[in-house]
Amino acid sequence: MSEKLLQIEQKSPQGDWRDSSVEFRKGVMCYSALPKNLKYLGLPNPREWQPFDADWKLPPNWKQIILDGMKERLDKYRSFRLFMDICVRCGACADKCHFYIGSGDPKNMPVLRAELMRSIYRRYFTLTGRIFGALAGGRELTEGIIKEWFYYFYQCTECRRCSVYCPYGIDTAEITMIGRELLNLLGCNINWVLEPAANCFRTGNHLGIQPHGFKDSLDFAAEELSEITGLPFEVPINRKGAEILFIMPSADYFGTPHYYTLLGYLMLFKEIGLDYTVSAFASEGGNFGLFSSHELMKRLNAKVYDEARRLGVKWIIGGECGHMWRVLHQYMDTMNGPADFLEVPVSPITGTRFEHAKSTKMLHIAEFTADLIHHGKLKLDPSRNDRWKVTYHDSCNPARGMGLLEEPRYIIEKTCNHFYEMPENTIREQTFCCGSGSGLGTDENLEMRMRGGFPRANAVKYVKEKHGVNLLACMCAIDKATLPTLLEYWVPDVEVAGVHELLGNALVMRGEKRTTDLRGEPLPAEAVIPAGDDGGAEVAHA
Ligand code: SF4
Ligand code: SF4
Repeated sequence: MSEKLLQIEQKSPQGDWRDSSVEFRKGVMCYSALPKNLKYLGLPNPREWQPFDADWKLPPNWKQIILDGMKERLDKYRSFRLFMDICVRCGACADKCHFYIGSGDPKNMPVLRAELMRSIYRRYFTLTGRIFGALAGGRELTEGIIKEWFYYFYQCTECRRCSVYCPYGIDTAEITMIGRELLNLLGCNINWVLEPAANCFRTGNHLGIQPHGFKDSLDFAAEELSEITGLPFEVPINRKGAEILFIMPSADYFGTPHYYTLLGYLMLFKEIGLDYTVSAFASEGGNFGLFSSHELMKRLNAKVYDEARRLGVKWIIGGECGHMWRVLHQYMDTMNGPADFLEVPVSPITGTRFEHAKSTKMLHIAEFTADLIHHGKLKLDPSRNDRWKVTYHDSCNPARGMGLLEEPRYIIEKTCNHFYEMPENTIREQTFCCGSGSGLGTDENLEMRMRGGFPRANAVKYVKEKHGVNLLACMCAIDKATLPTLLEYWVPDVEVAGVHELLGNALVMRGEKRTTDLRGEPLPAEAVIPAGDDGGAEVAHA
């Protein structure tokens, strides 16, 4: 199949781009959300339907609902109105979207994706559009346009790569978000987004794991770490009065390779004697509300702070997650903040005061760990990762969404002897998306995922062929879930790992008796601490 997907023809729109017809076929679309999930979340128009049905069973007044919804959002979000008004069609963004690169579909050019919405704005919300209609770039709002929106707004991973290149800073991801939000008003949503969101309200996490399952998973991880290190481990759950609340994506305690990242966090916390707790209710850092509506995003984010208040912690550390950080960094403050009842994060080990987190009171674990390493608080043996030749994928949300570029690289450089960067125009702010973010990481749309992930995989292939890279490190739960499939398809024999798995491998703990890495592979003989040596670093609490 890869030969077929490589036949990509990037072409300009043929005929009239205003033609809204789209073909829903398996492999390039996601299935609709189940009515039970809409009902659970209190969303309108729950019903049985599928995108390839002729009749989408829209409410009779669907057109008015969309136009009212647009008006409300144009009044509420200045950025939305601005993005509708200021595009000059320079085309700088046109070839920057991984879905356009991988599919060749002109409507996957960010400028044209936005135009699908802009043409309606022009027709109904500008004077020239109301008078001159199509002559002023307007389009009549039809059911065909609703279907076209659904098709293309669920072929955008909200990664924001296009916005990096736009001279006006137009953020097409924000337009996609509004598009999905408007579709929500008609009950047009995908199950891969709404089921995790509904689960999150029911059990506290996207996977629907109940509190006893959460505890079992963490107890299992603690037991396994005891076997690996020869040290006693325990994970504190719902411990009131702890200094720090630790929040992670649920995949960390449920799937691989995420699970090895969890082991890395737990080793770190034990080694430095961190006074922390996890929460069985805020058992999810991710936020699928981001992929659905601002309102849902706000409700899911609030849970983290409610738990911080209930448990009486001083501040919060967040794990390796993507969308958790986009929400935290860009939206939390105006949605649920400022979190005045918490304290500005101060590392209890180094005394570093993290002023940049003074509003959200939440620190990314990579910032926390990099600071520990910088102050010489961890004993690290990078040779324990010598079986890996590592490259780093900047996950879109931590990288572009919050500018977390240096800390993960610093950790990797201190924990691995073999680190190679992918080409410059595919990393840092210019990083290519995995192609499966924003709730599109299902097998239902596998062809489109492989197409969208092609530019990322191609850059991995480059460093694999040049340097023999066999490990792609990243800091996002969606990446860890979807990149293995992508790499298996385009670049076989490259594994995926979290940054804190590498940290856990390299960490020399005091009193450890350890012969394997976190995946159970033997450590190099010279990396094993001889009997009688205490190992570890002296940790002085600030
Ligand atoms: S946000 Fe990402 S997926 Fe969406 S149009 Fe821009 S580059 Fe493409
Ligand atoms: S780069 Fe910005 S201004 Fe230029 S076409 Fe794209 S969205 Fe419009």
